[in-house]
Amino acid sequence: MKQTFQQLRALQEIDTDLKTLRTKTDEIPKRIEKLQQEAARAKTELESTLQEITGHKKDYKLAELELKTAEEKITSYSVQLYSAKTNEQYKAFLKEIETQKKLKSGVEDRMITLMEEAEALEQKRQTTEKEDAQLETETVRKVKALEAEKQELEAAVTERENQRAELVQALPKSAVKLYERIRSRKGGLAVVTTRHERCNGCMNPVPPQRLLEIQRQDRIYTCEACGRILVSDNK
Ligand SMILES: [Zn+2]
Repeated sequence: MKQTFQQLRALQEIDTDLKTLRTKTDEIPKRIEKLQQEAARAKTELESTLQEITGHKKDYKLAELELKTAEEKITSYSVQLYSAKTNEQYKAFLKEIETQKKLKSGVEDRMITLMEEAEALEQKRQTTEKEDAQLETETVRKVKALEAEKQELEAAVTERENQRAELVQALPKSAVKLYERIRSRKGGLAVVTTRHERCNGCMNPVPPQRLLEIQRQDRIYTCEACGRILVSDNK
């Protein structure tokens, strides 16, 4: 009977271990997914910076075109100025030239701003690219480590499962049946020790007489409050 108690305790330890091991194993794919999502998000950021750069280049080309048009108009009106037949015509050409000069000056200002912005964007692109590359390497390394951890966990699960099968084989069938019934109803915890004259599963007091009986280990006693199998603290 004493052996049965030892085996029941061992079985409980294995099942508790298995629960932890399986939870950890199940978490790994989620952890990998999270890492990959973070890397993907960083890539999206880089893509948006690249798009901004493309947009900027287009704006700059348009400004160059506007500048060219204004310059051509200034030249054209300047030539026409000499062929003006009336004072009004002359004044009108002068006014046009003035307008185009203002326009040109505005475009030039815009081009300077665009160039400054382009410089900042280029720096952002370089920084982001560098960070992305680092993150990518880091992600690959972390994912590999997690995959290795998963394999180790799976190996540990298999080992515990084999140990469990051996124990179940060695235990009296009635004890296994009782154990499984309690375990399924009590959140995976079927065997508990007594501590400070209390059940370690539900913390309810265990009568002194019962404590003595438990220590004798001549039969299986369950907690009157929670129904778990009680074992003595000293093995
Ligand atoms: Zn209890």
